[in-house]
Amino acid sequence: MKPISDINTPSDMSAFWMPFTANQQFKAAPRILKSAEGMYYHSEDGRKILDGTAGLWCCNAGHGRREIAEAVSQQISHLDFAPTFQMGHPLPFELANQLVEIAPKGFGHVFYTNSGSESVDTALKIALAWQRARGQGTRTRLIGRERGYHGVGFGGISVGGIPGNRKWFGSLLGGVDHLPHTLNIGKNAFTKGLPEEDLSLADELEKIVFLHDASNIAAVIVEPIAGSTGVIMPPKGYLKRLREICTKHGILLIFDEVITGFGRLGSAFAAQEFDVIPDLITCAKGLTNGAIPMGAVLVRNGIYDDMMAAGKGAIELFHGYTYSGHPVAAAAGLATLEIYRSENLLHRAADLAGYWEEAAHSLRGCKHVKDVRNYGLVAGIELESMPDAPGKRAYEVFVRCFEKGALIRVTGDIIALSPPLIIERSEIDDLFTLLQDVLQAQD
Ligand code: PLP
Repeated sequence: MKPISDINTPSDMSAFWMPFTANQQFKAAPRILKSAEGMYYHSEDGRKILDGTAGLWCCNAGHGRREIAEAVSQQISHLDFAPTFQMGHPLPFELANQLVEIAPKGFGHVFYTNSGSESVDTALKIALAWQRARGQGTRTRLIGRERGYHGVGFGGISVGGIPGNRKWFGSLLGGVDHLPHTLNIGKNAFTKGLPEEDLSLADELEKIVFLHDASNIAAVIVEPIAGSTGVIMPPKGYLKRLREICTKHGILLIFDEVITGFGRLGSAFAAQEFDVIPDLITCAKGLTNGAIPMGAVLVRNGIYDDMMAAGKGAIELFHGYTYSGHPVAAAAGLATLEIYRSENLLHRAADLAGYWEEAAHSLRGCKHVKDVRNYGLVAGIELESMPDAPGKRAYEVFVRCFEKGALIRVTGDIIALSPPLIIERSEIDDLFTLLQDVLQAQD
């Protein structure tokens, strides 16, 4: 067999059914990334590509981190796998201790998963189980939000609000309602940071509660900033109001922080950034800097305590994955958290936010740009759609940017940017200059 590092060009692409990809279109004109270091990918044809998306919102500490590679390699030869069902090994305990240190105060417990989707399904199950454990088993309804993305498990697509992700898959979970999304370009286009206070969208939750009665509702799940559907901001005060309504009615509030976790907005979690404390936090991606799949649900103390009390020494939660707390993933997580700590990366987005904001808003006035949204080190640039071909315009921008040396992400006609948190100001300049050139060269 060829050494793995010599496999630079796939010999045949037909066997791999690629996720969220137009397989036939891609395989006819593939983009192959061969290696990565720091802020850059290297393509198969030898080009440097500036990473404007931290891979897929995950490589917050940049690429090719030796510390993570060494931790992973040492752990594989030391203890490659061991179960966490009815036995343990040290690293996931240690990682959980370190995670609760950076989590909001009062989050003392961690349930491990392997992905954001699994974190979401786990959080929904914890919410349902907790309601039952405290004698409120009629609370089975779940509330998500339009344009929410919560991964691709059946729980996640049910509470999620993306029609394309739902329509192929039958009737999904029953008993789910959706809050309205918070994007209002008519009123808020080109707002820097969060739009002005508007509690009316959060107050929609009261209407859903009134309709079904609180005694039937288990949990509300939202992304603090919706990432995958185009970087959609909550108006000021929105999350706080959701918190108040949930507390008033005994409904759990889940923040899906798969994107906003680990420093994306300037604090370890959005909960701290916005000073709104939910009951459960889902995370993944940045937990291991994307190097090894791992996710987690961070759990507030009272919820864990109630579950322990109800369990009476038996299995308290009938849930878990073969790889929950995998030793190699935990090693990657520990090495990642050490990098975040030693380089102060969980707060770096706050330092760069002003510079990033100015750079993002410099695109105002470029061809077809109808909105720019930003917070921390994330930005959404929305383009006017072509009348008969929604998504085509942004996809063409994505392809041109890749050809010219920058990786951006597009969803519909929205460009989403979320670079590694190690980005320098000069690289922010490079990213937006390149993007501006591509936007201006559009038809
Ligand atoms: N939740 C949110 C907010 C996400 O952005 C994502 C992925 O982008 C997920 C869940 C799903 O994560 P994964 O793709 O790791 O399953």
